[in-house]
Amino acid sequence: SIPANDEQKKIPSVSNTNVLRGINLEIREGEFMVLVGPSGCGKSTLLRLIAGLEEISAGKIIIGDRTVNNLPPKSRDIAMVFQNYALYPHLRVYDNIAFGLRRMNPDKKKFSAPKILGNLSRVLPPRFRFLSDEEKSIQAKVLEVAQLLQIDHLLDRLPKQLSGGQKQRVALGRAIARNPQAFLMDEPLSNLDAKLRTETRSQIVTLQKQLQVTTIYVTHDQTEAMTMGDRIAIMNNGEIQQVATPLEVYRQPANKFVAQFIGSPP
Ligand code: ATP
Ligand code: MG
Repeated sequence: SIPANDEQKKIPSVSNTNVLRGINLEIREGEFMVLVGPSGCGKSTLLRLIAGLEEISAGKIIIGDRTVNNLPPKSRDIAMVFQNYALYPHLRVYDNIAFGLRRMNPDKKKFSAPKILGNLSRVLPPRFRFLSDEEKSIQAKVLEVAQLLQIDHLLDRLPKQLSGGQKQRVALGRAIARNPQAFLMDEPLSNLDAKLRTETRSQIVTLQKQLQVTTIYVTHDQTEAMTMGDRIAIMNNGEIQQVATPLEVYRQPANKFVAQFIGSPP
């Protein structure tokens, strides 16, 4: 449960409302967990609690072997991708992706060796030459991620010069570049048109499998829930109704709500 925010305190009848109740959710290392449920059921709140963007009023949040309740968001070693991308409008794509790496604590660097293919001088604008060792490793990481997401031709652009799908890729790139221990995504595809959504959906799944990063993916889309995750957690009204594989949920829905939401045969 979370404490009522200031805005809500102005309305006496809803102050101290528990948005989440009795949540007990364990996500396995490397797992792709889809968190699904109707609008207002508490999905974003749960993600924001895990990320440290909301304060928890009771219970424990454990990431790996650390209880993170009292840690600020930046110390939790998780990356979050939002529906509205949240890119820095004044920074070019390169610097948007590099941003998280620059602020990183030096002893926490976990860059993998650069796996850049092809001719770098073709890809790199002149301003990227003559770099410090730190900047060189940042550059290698940015390029690795940009090539993975096929946005390496966009590195010199500003966010306003990108399409929605390209912005979403940059947001993903920024999150991935930091090699977070977990990856939280809150309806990352809802601003894309249907075709791009389908395309990006399978790219996210492929990427997650490739990186094997523990992921919680929030959606209210049944198709996404049934096709993307290793397991699904179905929420309603601040409570988790069932946690199981898509097939189990479809075959053995825990209750009427789940059956209706997923569209299982009666
Ligand atoms: P959607 O699919 O529409 O994004 P959601 O499942 O993400 O919905 P939340 O945003 O988590 O839902 O909201 C859950 C409930 O908690 C809603 O009733 C909302 O009004 C309320 N709520 C959201 N944030 C707070 C907050 N900081 N304090 C108190 N109540 C909140
Ligand atoms: Mg939400």
